[in-house]
Amino acid sequence: MTAGAFSCRRLYVLLGDPVHHSLSPAIQNAAMRALALDAVYVAMHAWEELVGPLMRSVAAKGGGGNVTVPHKRVAAGALDEASEAVKATGACNVFWWAEEKGLCGDNTDVEAFRTAAEAVLGSSLTGRRVLLLGAGGAARAVASACMGANAERVDVLNRTPTRAESLIRDLGEPPMVRALSSPDSLPSRRYDLVVNATSLGLAAGDPLPIEPGAVRAEAVLDLVYSRNGTPFVRAAREAGLKAEDGRRMLIEQAAASFRRWFDREPAREVMYGAVGLLEDDR
Ligand code: NAP
Repeated sequence: MTAGAFSCRRLYVLLGDPVHHSLSPAIQNAAMRALALDAVYVAMHAWEELVGPLMRSVAAKGGGGNVTVPHKRVAAGALDEASEAVKATGACNVFWWAEEKGLCGDNTDVEAFRTAAEAVLGSSLTGRRVLLLGAGGAARAVASACMGANAERVDVLNRTPTRAESLIRDLGEPPMVRALSSPDSLPSRRYDLVVNATSLGLAAGDPLPIEPGAVRAEAVLDLVYSRNGTPFVRAAREAGLKAEDGRRMLIEQAAASFRRWFDREPAREVMYGAVGLLEDDR
């Protein structure tokens, strides 16, 4: 082996656009190293038309990976075998290969969101009122998790209202999930949890998805994440709300992905350490 080069048997990829901000390589490589697995995880900037072919070729060689913004719906369409969570959300964030089934995929964001939401609320999502900002792949996982947990209500507010309507249609038009056509009615409503499932906060200089003071809420979960917290989390805390960024959800979906690939439990403390979440924060 030449200096600076390495070899390994199994390749795991993160496909998305953008991917430069992602903490997934740090988390997964730390977990793979901790179990001395002969594997490596790399982030790849992928154009939409390459997502399906890349998933198939990497998985067929014994590897697998994750899919992130904005390709989760395309990934769902590329699968031979989709889990119930993929069918419910129309979005896939983890894939692997199985003999006789071919390219398999799941949506581990659903269970990961539920864990992260219950951590910031300090109790279950059952009976809770949720304001969901966004209607993309992540928002579908959030709405699906809220339905599974018997939340009381999910109000969906999205820049493009027709996309919120199609999310609700695809979920089977459950009465507890409704689209808000504009933010005007927000001040008169009370929410337990506000979830940012838009991409706002990914780029420096993005506006806040909503002014925390404009909503009566108990807690905020920003699915966008950063080692130093996010502007939305800082603004929410300044407004007196409990708030967390998306790192806990990221770890939980990463741990669930790891189990799909290796059928082994990853070292959680190693994963939490890789994103700067202290034991105390867990
Ligand atoms: P997506 O499918 O591309 O959806 C993007 C969403 O953001 C859409 O609702 C879109 O609204 C909205 N949006 C984009 N630009 C906007 C703007 N300038 N103003 C208002 N709304 C805007 O992406 P996704 O997969 O759902 O991911 C959304 C975010 O969640 C990303 O930041 C992603 O990193 C994060 N995420 C985090 C985790 C985690 O584990 N922490 C997991 C999944 C996702 P339109 O419909 O109007 O375009």
